[in-house]
Amino acid sequence: MPNQLTISELTVKLARREVSAREATQACLDQIARVDPKIHAFISHDAADALAQADVADQLLAQGGRDANRPLLGIPVAVKDVLAVKGQPLNCGSKILGKFISPYDATAIEKLKAAGAIVFGRLNMDEFAMGSSTENSAFGLTRNPWDVTRIPGGSSGGSAAAVAADECLASLGTDTGGSIRQPAALCGCVGLKPTYGRISRYGLVAFASSLDQIGPFTKDVRDAAILLGAMSGVDPRDSTSVPEPVPDYAAALTGDIRGMKIGLPKEYLIGGLDPEVKAAVDAAVKKFAELGAEIVEISLPHTDYAVAVYYIIATAEASANLARFDGVRYGARVEGNDPIELYSRTRGAGFGEEVKRRIILGTYVLSSGYHDAYYLHAQKVRTLIRNDFLKAFETVDAIVTPTTPTAAFKIGEKSDDPLQMYLSDIFTISCNLAGICGVSLPCGFAKNPQLPIGLQLLGQPFGEATMLKLAHAYEQSTGWHRAKPPLEPAA
Ligand code: GLN
Repeated sequence: MPNQLTISELTVKLARREVSAREATQACLDQIARVDPKIHAFISHDAADALAQADVADQLLAQGGRDANRPLLGIPVAVKDVLAVKGQPLNCGSKILGKFISPYDATAIEKLKAAGAIVFGRLNMDEFAMGSSTENSAFGLTRNPWDVTRIPGGSSGGSAAAVAADECLASLGTDTGGSIRQPAALCGCVGLKPTYGRISRYGLVAFASSLDQIGPFTKDVRDAAILLGAMSGVDPRDSTSVPEPVPDYAAALTGDIRGMKIGLPKEYLIGGLDPEVKAAVDAAVKKFAELGAEIVEISLPHTDYAVAVYYIIATAEASANLARFDGVRYGARVEGNDPIELYSRTRGAGFGEEVKRRIILGTYVLSSGYHDAYYLHAQKVRTLIRNDFLKAFETVDAIVTPTTPTAAFKIGEKSDDPLQMYLSDIFTISCNLAGICGVSLPCGFAKNPQLPIGLQLLGQPFGEATMLKLAHAYEQSTGWHRAKPPLEPAA
């Protein structure tokens, strides 16, 4: 079925007119009807709009419209509910935005549409991207396609589950502390967090502005390279986007990684690392060596502080960013006798527990008396973490680690223990603090039940091409990415 193909496979079939964009889109919609009542990756989707976009793509294809400027013509891509798509609902997994409809496209969306993609659906997520399990959504939880009693990871759990369950060819998510890489690992797909500044954040509802990046979920590394290329570039509407040239990422995937150097940080052998995850990562490291890469032990001495620093900086920025949701204009407005009562009633009713916890924590670390002790201090340690990476990249091309300490956990297992939940991001958080790029790709399975394990590669700032080249060589020589979850139709 065309919904099971990769972007590059479908592109060939579309060009040969073996499959139409409408057929591919319909196959995704059929799969959603079949499996999504159980998985619940989508909050909503507009089937008629998706098919109308497909018909436009088919007309262009009939006119020979697939050219270098439209590398995604006819490819159905679904979107996390935190990115603005013109005319579509935008809820961020929250009640507080009510019936808000986006009046414009995010830059990343604009670029995908210009490249010919069929942009559809609103994918479930932890409210305002705060979480690691997609259990913090006002729209209910998403289930892991490999085992529906388990979480898909988060916060972009819907994005990962939808790709793993073949409900779309690829999807977009966002990553502030691991929200693309962690769910990709737990659902068995490829998830890429680009370098900070690589993709414009215009039209992305901010969680922690100095950490947030948009990125793709795909079925293989080549597709991640294709989507990255389509979305990257400087944007006058986001002053933190960087005018770095956008290379042809897919062209970098030569398969030849002989002589490249991969760093193995000794700090990543932590206590809570599951033996099956460790075995899979050890085997991956061995594979890299077989492929001709040189493995070098490195040290990232400030790794221990990453989770603490992240939960100061991310909550501080979140408390400022979320102050704008005052309930005056949009959505779930709860009336009060004066503006303060209106704001507090609306925010009290509109935000979920975890979001409130973060706002309170963030307000605390920014408050006078604590600002220097917590926030300023955390910023300094953040610089030390970044410097650790920059130093390592003087000698290695990329760094390898597990993406997560364990495979997917059970629904409800960590939801009462925020600290345990925070610790599930231990391997992904430093990448955002350092502003570098990272990718997660499948590297094996845990057994009983069979659950995907993710391998993380970290690359230097704007070193995506090198990082993806390594990821692709590994992927092609192992084939873990081709495994499909044992999905049964919804009852
Ligand atoms: N799980 C982390 C958090 O809860 C990361 C979230 C993200 O990357 N958006 O903050």
